[in-house]
Order: sequence, then C-alpha cells, then structure tokens
Amino acid sequence: MFWNKSRLIANIVEDRCCNCGNCVRFCRHSALMTAEVRGKTCTFVDNPKRCRGCGKCMLICPHRAIEMVERYC
Ligand code: SF4
Ligand code: SF4
Repeated sequence: MFWNKSRLIANIVEDRCCNCGNCVRFCRHSALMTAEVRGKTCTFVDNPKRCRGCGKCMLICPHRAIEMVERYC
C-alpha cells in the first residue's frame, strides 16, 4: 500500500523551543534534528520529505513549540 503524503508538515516555532530534543527522539520518521547552526543550537525539520504530517511531535512538545502548517514541498 502506498502512503499518501499529508498536506501538513511540522514547523518549529524557534522562540518557544528550548531544544530539549523530545520531538527529535520521538519522530519515528527521523524528520527532525537538533544541531548547532552558526553557533546557535536549533531544532528544525531536517528532512521535510520524511515528515508524514502525523502531528505526534506537536502533542509531546512541552512548550507547544510545534505547529502543523501547509506543506511547502
Ligand atoms: S519538543 Fe518542543 S521544545 Fe523540545 S526540541 Fe522539540 S520543539 Fe523544541
Ligand atoms: S509530524 Fe510526525 S512525521 Fe512529522 S516531524 Fe512530527 S512526528 Fe515526525
């Protein structure tokens, strides 16, 4: 059975994110990453194609820093 890609994708609101890494560990599709970017720790959707739009990361984020938005790719 083929997977129908969701029209939604996770988006991390940087101002609310404390980079705890919960969502990175939780995403079973390895779509998220925490890394140093220009000397600053950031958590972001590293691989948009892997995000299935399931919204589970949004539910486990302790700071409500993840929202589901319309897919751009
Ligand atoms: S769970 Fe929330 S606060 Fe923690 S890294 Fe992910 S987006 Fe940031
Ligand atoms: S919406 Fe689902 S697939 Fe996409 S990053 Fe969050 S947990 Fe992973």
